[in-house]
Amino acid sequence: MKSEQMNLRFDGPILRGWVYTNSNKCKNPDCRCHTDPSFRHGLYHRWTGKMNGKLVSRSISKEAAEECRRRIDNYKALMKKIEGLLDEEVAREPWKNVGPGSEG
Ligand SMILES: [Zn+2]
Repeated sequence: MKSEQMNLRFDGPILRGWVYTNSNKCKNPDCRCHTDPSFRHGLYHRWTGKMNGKLVSRSISKEAAEECRRRIDNYKALMKKIEGLLDEEVAREPWKNVGPGSEG
């Protein structure tokens, strides 16, 4: 039985990045959106994150924004697990078990 086997379980699809939701004022100065925030136009959702090493931004639907947020939460939970694992592993002080190091 392997005692050093690690089990890193994914809770679901993961995604890195950020999701922004904004509403806009229009160009008509007489429009109510300029005086009342609840009359602002639309809700614009954007995902920003790294794709192939480049920071990119995408316009996404409301449904996609919700899905992205869910996946980002999964990603954060996974990173937390990895941090926990790293804390456990360093507590085992692996340099103690692999024989003496070079003296000096
Ligand atoms: Zn307006």
